[in-house]
Amino acid sequence: MRVIVIGAGIGGLTLAQGLRREGVDVSVHDRDARPSTTGGYRLHLGALARDALARRLPAALWQAVLASSAGGASFRRFTFGDHRMRVLISERQDDGERVMIGRIPLRELLCHDLGDALHFGSEFTGHRVGRDGSVTAEFADGSTDEGHVLVGADGVGSRVVTRLAGARTDHPTGIESLAGRVPLDRTARALVPAQLWSGPALAIGPGGVGAFLTLHDPVTSMIVDPATCTTVPARTEDPYLLWAPGLPADGFPVRPEDLDGSGLVGLGLDLFRGWDPAFRELVARTDPSTVAHFRFRAANPDADPTPWPAGTVTALGDAVHAMPPTGGRGASTAIRDADVLTRHLLAARDGVTTTPLALHAFEEEMGGYAPDAVRESLRPLAWQRRLSGRLAYPLGRAALAAAGTRSRHRDRTLQS
Ligand SMILES: Cc1cc2nc3c(=O)[nH]c(=O)nc-3n(C[C@H](O)[C@H](O)[C@H](O)COP(=O)(O)OP(=O)(O)OC[C@H]3O[C@@H](n4cnc5c(N)ncnc54)[C@H](O)[C@@H]3O)c2cc1C
Repeated sequence: MRVIVIGAGIGGLTLAQGLRREGVDVSVHDRDARPSTTGGYRLHLGALARDALARRLPAALWQAVLASSAGGASFRRFTFGDHRMRVLISERQDDGERVMIGRIPLRELLCHDLGDALHFGSEFTGHRVGRDGSVTAEFADGSTDEGHVLVGADGVGSRVVTRLAGARTDHPTGIESLAGRVPLDRTARALVPAQLWSGPALAIGPGGVGAFLTLHDPVTSMIVDPATCTTVPARTEDPYLLWAPGLPADGFPVRPEDLDGSGLVGLGLDLFRGWDPAFRELVARTDPSTVAHFRFRAANPDADPTPWPAGTVTALGDAVHAMPPTGGRGASTAIRDADVLTRHLLAARDGVTTTPLALHAFEEEMGGYAPDAVRESLRPLAWQRRLSGRLAYPLGRAALAAAGTRSRHRDRTLQS
């Protein structure tokens, strides 16, 4: 069996690693020039994704992923607060299995040992399916690649899915975001809101601005000591604070796409006008080269994610179930898809089933869990839209404070 994967992102590379480990011939194409040419911040991987990676990656590579990650110790609580960095609700987290890793280090690690199976700078443009089900993928430079199965792991706006479904299956949510990193030197550390030392926070402010804030410091919440990874070296990053305001698209005073990195930091400061002064001082210390603008798109969680007849072409990850990062579920769900698809493809390779039936079984199984991840990721955006009115903010803040009091009371009752 030969499998062609379009997209060397998180899902596509996990699939390639899993198949290669089982002796399946695989080739992966990505339009990026190199794994590191992409952007991205810290990804959050839940227990199912962690188990899937442990199952599908060679042991030394899995150890290197763990050694490049921050563990659950940096995510003991999730807090909801206001723009003055006052905590309104603080929720205890019990998922000790969670792993946090930068998108670029994870992507670089997942390329490990794939060698000549990897084709960077290779932009997929279309595909043809032969009478016998074999697939020919076509690329922008005029080259082609042939295989028995084609998997679109080409992320949001997937060309593979657009061809299969006849149109894009994701839509704009109307919410856009900026995100930037502040290097955590001694001065910056002193400015960090106290609640962030025990986990991420969602702060809501006037004008429909909700900000996701988190620290990423793999070294101080180490899972595996990087020094022990000798076969596959770990890729740790310098510690940083991530700030990411999200708001309705018409709430931006200027269009972010017209701005360079320094302009985007300035826009962030504008959006945070009236917020806690120490926090604004932190934002002013952002490395301009790390700031990016994102438009959140999402699949319809009530629609069939794979609305095409099962054959020898399928898709996984954001390509079929795009979701905003507000649920922290995109990468985990793509990894889970890769794990599930590997299992079904191996059954076809071993003659237990046919390829179309294997892909159908994958699509059915994925359709059972992925829409819930999309739904969960969309929920904070609905809140954000509700809070964007002038009166809605003080009312919403009061409602959150009341919910916080109720949950503290519940905690005390349970403890007594
Ligand atoms: C630049 C970027 C930054 C991100 N940053 C974050 C973040 O900081 N935090 C977070 O939670 N989530 C982030 N995400 C989303 C998160 O990475 C995804 O939810 C998750 O990785 C889903 O995995 P995936 O494999 O489905 O898609 P992705 O990991 O997005 O991979 C898709 C890949 O397909 C490639 N591709 C697209 N079109 C073509 C084509 N025509 N031909 C060849 N290759 C193609 C892309 O270059 C990309 O490498 C980011 C996504 C991107 C693309």
